[in-house]
Amino acid sequence: MRLIESTQWINYKNHNTLFVKGYDVLVDTQSLSPIMPLSHGLGHKQITVHDVHVDHDMVFARASYSDYECKNTHWVSAKKLLNHANDQVVHHVLRGVHYLGWDARHQFCSQCGARLEKQKDLFEKKCVQCERLFYPNLAPAIAVAIRRGDSIVLARGPYFPKGQYSVLAGFVDPGESAEAAVHREVKEEVGLEVTNIQYVGTQSWPFPGSFMIAFTADYAGGEICVDGVEIEDAQWFELSDLPDLPVRGSLSRRLIEGL
Ligand SMILES: [Zn+2]
Repeated sequence: MRLIESTQWINYKNHNTLFVKGYDVLVDTQSLSPIMPLSHGLGHKQITVHDVHVDHDMVFARASYSDYECKNTHWVSAKKLLNHANDQVVHHVLRGVHYLGWDARHQFCSQCGARLEKQKDLFEKKCVQCERLFYPNLAPAIAVAIRRGDSIVLARGPYFPKGQYSVLAGFVDPGESAEAAVHREVKEEVGLEVTNIQYVGTQSWPFPGSFMIAFTADYAGGEICVDGVEIEDAQWFELSDLPDLPVRGSLSRRLIEGL
């Protein structure tokens, strides 16, 4: 990952670029693709490009925008875009949003307060005073599909889109294994016991900076009991009659559809 000086941006004008503003990405209105030449965004007076990073054959551009309408491009939520993007686009969106988000939130050293400086061709940043290195954050978290016959437990938090349910998920605590986190989160969130925990896969998830580790587990006992705060509802759902699920492109969705 290399930060490019603004005087050099013209050299990258034809490079495939992803324009990112927070958790939004710019898409071409006609093709609905978020990948477009750098010149496409630079040429719009309503889009301000703040910095540009080259990542192998891709460019990630941090941008902001006015409310002024543009007929050629528009901004969409990166999560929504994952619903219909192919695997390659999903990869670029997850990587670009993750890196630019971390970069924006990590401008100063948490040890001495001095400015952080980007390192040539590297992800990490270095403190200009105490020289401590900082790497993009990935907070490990588990996601688990709990099975009992042809049913699974799905839950929803108060911040979920209306009607949407997902597998249980939670961050791994310091000193804890992912498997232990599965047992703890399941017990804390829905009051159940599980057994036969099986690894399924992983995904970096930049909303806001998780590293998801997915498992399946078999129901081993207990009745569903939610706290009404972190989890507002959890139910057993038949695999043939599932509610609205998380976006395609997410590991949670893959976990459910793989059952
Ligand atoms: Zn420092």
